Amino acid sequence: MNKSTELFAESKKHIPGGVNSPVRAFLSVDGDPVFIDHADKAYLYDVDGKRYIDFVGSWGPAILGHNHPEVAQAVKQAVDRGLSFGAPTAIEEQMADYLCQNIPNLEMVRMVSSGTEATMSAIRLARGYTQRDKLIKFAGCYHGHSDSLLVNAGSGALTQGTPSSAGVTKGAAQDTLVANYNDLASVEALFVANPEQIACVIVEPVAGNMNCVPPVPGFLEGLRKLCDQYRAVLIFDEVMTGFRVAFQGSQKVYQVDADLITLGKIIGGGMPVGAFGGKKEIMAQIAPLGPVYQAGTLSGNPLSMTAGLTTLKLLNEEENYAKLEESTKYLVQGLKERAQKYNIPFFVTQVGAMFGFFFSQGPVTDLASASQANISQFKKFHQFMLEHGVYLAPSPFEASFMSLAHTKEDLDYVLDLAEQAFKLL
Ligand code: PMP
Repeated sequence: MNKSTELFAESKKHIPGGVNSPVRAFLSVDGDPVFIDHADKAYLYDVDGKRYIDFVGSWGPAILGHNHPEVAQAVKQAVDRGLSFGAPTAIEEQMADYLCQNIPNLEMVRMVSSGTEATMSAIRLARGYTQRDKLIKFAGCYHGHSDSLLVNAGSGALTQGTPSSAGVTKGAAQDTLVANYNDLASVEALFVANPEQIACVIVEPVAGNMNCVPPVPGFLEGLRKLCDQYRAVLIFDEVMTGFRVAFQGSQKVYQVDADLITLGKIIGGGMPVGAFGGKKEIMAQIAPLGPVYQAGTLSGNPLSMTAGLTTLKLLNEEENYAKLEESTKYLVQGLKERAQKYNIPFFVTQVGAMFGFFFSQGPVTDLASASQANISQFKKFHQFMLEHGVYLAPSPFEASFMSLAHTKEDLDYVLDLAEQAFKLL
């Protein structure tokens, strides 16, 4: 028995399902998870010493590659000064400054410890600011696991076939209205049916929790218009897309302004983090300035701020995003060509350093079309790639991520291997 199998059996005794986050259990690929010992550059190394080329990147943060020496060094130095103070620090001010300088429409920002907290707090803020109760989200979009957002959710909630979770009360779910992604008419219908009741629309500007589904031209612009017309707050959940699709995020790529923005993943450089922010007028409603309560013992943690800010500064080079874009394009186009060679229906998507692939003819524009992909082919593909040292998200409903550490040799290895997999399918 290998060490991963042994550890998984042991873990199941005291950790539900043996994992601390459901998708890690590999249920949707009919496999057992590999336990990771350490990671470096584009590679994960499991407890049995096997190496994998990694396209999960800790679910997004590892855009520089794992264990970047400058980030590691900065964190080690921060450790020497103490792990947490529960009092303001200079680096929190530097982080807030840096985010506001680089993200459009971010005038004030509050740090939290996860993406879930960021979106949950942004929703409360939008409700407090507008004095309205209802929100609109999209089927297949995931915004963390707070009650009012765990309705028709993507990611693990989708993979497990439990679009809504047990334990979410009718009361918490009743104010959550669900529209179809890329379908403005479905959004407008909800506004018309609920006049002056909708506090906000929350959207993943590029959906990354039903695989990777970009917005169709006009969709985000249309949301902006509807929110203006009905005086609702437009929230871009950029937990995944922030600093991933472009340095300034989706607002830059699509030239659409959001009122509130949520961030996470990359801005923590691999440490626990989240943030929400936006227009000053709205952010001034947050305690201690205003009546909307929000707080956190470890918010703005010095290690998270250090890892995050160091990562962002290293990332902030035009050529980095050109390289990420190029590597990602090379990989997805290469995969597509190889699938076509063996007549496998295969549809790929890409925005910046984020990509998706579907075992279907496409096009994929929403949850319904994403769900039409061939799951059994995905499972076989995933198993083959994992066995031969390529670590892909263990679910057909997750986006994949490129890092600056992936080399051409890595990508060519993946493409050659994928060709063998397609041949077998
Ligand atoms: N929003 C989006 C778009 C996400 O992708 C995620 C997590 N994948 C979250 C929110 C929740 O973040 P966290 O897991 O850090 O709570």
